Amino acid sequence: MAIERTLSIIKPDGVEKDVIGEIISRFEKADLHVAAMKMIHMSKEQAEGFYYVHKDKPFFNSLVEFMTSGPCVVMVIEGEDAISRVRELMGATDPSKAAPGTIRHDFATDIEKNTIHGSDGPEAASFEVPYFFSKIEMVNSEE
Ligand code: GDP
Repeated sequence: MAIERTLSIIKPDGVEKDVIGEIISRFEKADLHVAAMKMIHMSKEQAEGFYYVHKDKPFFNSLVEFMTSGPCVVMVIEGEDAISRVRELMGATDPSKAAPGTIRHDFATDIEKNTIHGSDGPEAASFEVPYFFSKIEMVNSEE
């Protein structure tokens, strides 16, 4: 097992529903730690750049509109196998298919307004973490 860092975002619907603390608590109870965190309201350009891999998907414009509709909490989460373990705590993209007890099952509205983002693999994490955080903004617990 390796200590990893992953990028997680509490999306505008999660902030609106006041579940920031609940979501962070779930990470902490799973022995995953916040290494960096801030609240931001993304511009269209920032959201488009973040979701660049989805630019040809039919839902891209709607996704960008949603992600810029209100503030988000962006976080770097660190711990053993953090990338896959955050994904497990999140649940399936479509909350109607997410397992009971997962964040999306418990809080998401629909397949778009699904409350939480987590990098889907090491390659994504290595793009997404520095997209929002510089090295000096991250706690240096890994090294
Ligand atoms: P994730 O890794 O589970 O977040 O899923 P994806 O990388 O496939 O999609 C990125 C985000 O786009 C999702 O978290 C949703 O917010 C949104 N999304 C994914 N699929 C759909 C869809 O079929 N329709 C809409 N409207 N949004 C979607």
